[in-house]
Amino acid sequence: MRNGKLLVLAVLMSTAAFVSAQQAGKPKPEDTEVWSPEPPVVTPGATCGAAPSDAMVLFDGKNLNEWVSAQDHTPARWVVAGGVMTVRKAPGVGNIETKRRFKNYQLHVEWKIPADITGSGQARGNSGVFLASTGPGDDGYELQVMDSYQNKTYVNGMAGSIYKQAIPLANANRKPGEWQTYDIVWMAPEFHADGSLKTPAYVTVFFNGVLVENHFQLKGQTLYIGKPFYKEYDRAPIKLQAHGDKSEPISYRNIWVRNIP
Ligand code: MG
Repeated sequence: MRNGKLLVLAVLMSTAAFVSAQQAGKPKPEDTEVWSPEPPVVTPGATCGAAPSDAMVLFDGKNLNEWVSAQDHTPARWVVAGGVMTVRKAPGVGNIETKRRFKNYQLHVEWKIPADITGSGQARGNSGVFLASTGPGDDGYELQVMDSYQNKTYVNGMAGSIYKQAIPLANANRKPGEWQTYDIVWMAPEFHADGSLKTPAYVTVFFNGVLVENHFQLKGQTLYIGKPFYKEYDRAPIKLQAHGDKSEPISYRNIWVRNIP
């Protein structure tokens, strides 16, 4: 009888072990819960487009301290008045770029075409946000700024386009005279040690809150003429374009950026 009791006990124990092993192998909700590290707390701006707490403000309406002339890195000479900076038409005054250099980032830019804009096609409110300004001799990577409200031009050169590479998914232009917003995610290209391309650049753009570029893979710099190609860089300034045509000057305000780790 003693042996019989031991046998029952052994059977019970092995059954319990089998059941607990089965339970152990069964997926539980906790298996897929991630608790750390916790994302940093960021206080959103009070209104849509206002800089969040961890943003680097590149233009707050007061001065051009964060900007230089792209050509020679002398102080930027666009006009600042009424909380707005405006492309200045004068000899020797051209594109401006940030003093700081960036790699992957989120960028907010507001821009306005004057209400009394004249001209047509590419000569109507042409400016641009260069997502990486890799040098005065380079074309860089341009997100087009222009009046495309009721102004025909090639669609891969209209507002919201990645110049001559990506047609915007929608025409979300407001009328000339109204402020417009770009919210941009720029993932910079990566290069091998020998300068060859490792990973292309990707860009996502919301234009007045409307998705116009969805994780678009760039073919290289946005060239005026010819096929795009990449040229090695690590970090680069963000540049604003003084296009230099006869259009009325374009204004910018509320520009901020957040580095993407
Ligand atoms: Mg342009």
